[in-house]
Amino acid sequence: MMSIKTKLSQIKTQIPDHVTLVAVSKTKPVEDLMQAYDCGQRIFGENKIQEMAEKYQGMPKDIQWHMIGNVQRNKVKYMASFVDLIHGVDSLKLLNEINKQAEKHQRIINCLIQLKIAQEDTKFGMSLEDAHTLIASESFKNLKNVAVVGVMGMASFTDNTIQIEKEFKTLKGNFDKLKEIASNLKIISMGMSGDYTLAIESGSTMVRVGSSIFGTRN
Ligand SMILES: *Cc1c(COP(=O)(O)O)cnc(C)c1O
Repeated sequence: MMSIKTKLSQIKTQIPDHVTLVAVSKTKPVEDLMQAYDCGQRIFGENKIQEMAEKYQGMPKDIQWHMIGNVQRNKVKYMASFVDLIHGVDSLKLLNEINKQAEKHQRIINCLIQLKIAQEDTKFGMSLEDAHTLIASESFKNLKNVAVVGVMGMASFTDNTIQIEKEFKTLKGNFDKLKEIASNLKIISMGMSGDYTLAIESGSTMVRVGSSIFGTRN
């Protein structure tokens, strides 16, 4: 079996400088994360707030922690003191809560708006129209402790490369449209183990890669 170190360095050769690699470490033990850390990886993505908080406690403090999963509002408080980027923001209600908790810690928390790009009903995310309305709203402008710095999306779970590519290009197109009213947007978080190369070709600036680095999850 290839080591985490080998897999990580192979993946890095396929990722251009302008694209950020988030090592998705959900369900994996701290020892595995430390192997990636020892190879220079400093950005880790988790999808459960409690698990991320525990790992944060036990690991070096120069790590940037990204929350990539669906966020329950009542759990925002457990990550507000340290989270670096929240990928899955899909409502003003959630942004309000993040803002409130960030204020308590005198921080500004970076967030991505999750947009729905997949055909499937199961994927979370906002429509372009709703995201546009949110960003243009007065209530949004009054939030001083959150910074929306980009968008995130997940393609359909399918082998159909043409469909996945179409969905990635939709996300890139939607990013460009939102950027017209929010010039500070810079991140397009799209691409996972199976499709990050395609995502990068379609304009991704941040890929979230888990199993290709740490192995399959149970
Ligand atoms: C688990 C997860 C990933 C990583 O998936 P892999 O296929 O293991 O690379 C990326 N993004 C999100 C939102 C995830 O939940």
